[in-house]
Amino acid sequence: MGPSALIDLSALRHNLQCAREAAPDSKVIAVIKADAYGHGMFRAAGALESADAFAVARVVEGISLREAGFDKDILVLEGCFDGAELSAASRHRLELAINQPGQLDMLEQAALPGTVRCWLKLDTGMHRLGFQVSAAEEAYRRLLACDNVHRELRLMTHLANADDLKDDASRMQISEFIPLEEAFGVPASIANSAAILGWPESHREWNRPGIMLYGASPMIGGRAVNHGLRPVMTLSSHLIAVNHYAKGAALGYGGSWRCPEAMPVGVVAIGYGDGYPRHARAGTPVLLNGKRVPLVGRVSMDMISLDLRTQPDARPGDPVVLWGQGLPSEEIAECAQTISYELFCGVTSRVPFRESA
Ligand SMILES: *Cc1c(COP(=O)(O)O)cnc(C)c1O
Repeated sequence: MGPSALIDLSALRHNLQCAREAAPDSKVIAVIKADAYGHGMFRAAGALESADAFAVARVVEGISLREAGFDKDILVLEGCFDGAELSAASRHRLELAINQPGQLDMLEQAALPGTVRCWLKLDTGMHRLGFQVSAAEEAYRRLLACDNVHRELRLMTHLANADDLKDDASRMQISEFIPLEEAFGVPASIANSAAILGWPESHREWNRPGIMLYGASPMIGGRAVNHGLRPVMTLSSHLIAVNHYAKGAALGYGGSWRCPEAMPVGVVAIGYGDGYPRHARAGTPVLLNGKRVPLVGRVSMDMISLDLRTQPDARPGDPVVLWGQGLPSEEIAECAQTISYELFCGVTSRVPFRESA
């Protein structure tokens, strides 16, 4: 009884295969940052053994992968933050995205045990991290001249609007990138999940899928099933009480939801203390015994309430799915004004994780 998250490792492997099939000429850098989007970094890395490389956000994440024995290439997407991280990255054979002049200074000043493979990150329009296109040549020359840098440089950029096929920004970002990759003649990487699925012109020697591996659609209004993806995380719990209230009874904190008639109301052991989004609105679907019923009233820390008028025979102990198998995370995210990424990352340490091979 109570909440748990089931991680379907065969779905993870299936989704990796989807990323390969969507871009058959590209290698896959499986993005497993932020504890593999809340799925558990080590179990995800194990299941994604056939990826060509891993990517994480921070040096510490890369180090913990190395310490757990993973020896695949690992790209650190934010690069290093200081000299100590740079030498640790070198010691642990981590690859670094280089996105600002301070990181070039660190590389030039360091005494490292070996060379570091560097990906020059360009800002072609995302305006978050990366060198402006006008500064790219100088950064490239400094990397080439630096003894601490592995001879084979790589080039990358990140798309801001790839989830929207009607937005021209992706095309413009790609056209900013092309002259530089042609001038430098080095291996490159542009595509995240949305670009892998929606912008074939962004595919390069290396692609960087994240969310699609976990079985959620990256596209605005998208659904995983339409891309052939399978959900990896199923968050479930159980009904712990069934109560009957009179017409007009106010449910939960604030009493914002009132029973429109005499009706049964179920209580489920899941709340924002488990990572279920507090902003999920009344009407958000929940699967009870495999049937959809609507959430009613506010989400509490440990519980939510369900309208059981269509399921009057439901009893305490009955199984409930909050998202995953049979209930797309994208739909729950839309009801809570967020994205699947945040739902997955938000599942708290109170929830026990299980996995199926
Ligand atoms: C997180 C991240 C990705 C993966 O993005 P998805 O939308 O999850 O596929 C790729 N590249 C960079 C630079 C990222 O930060």
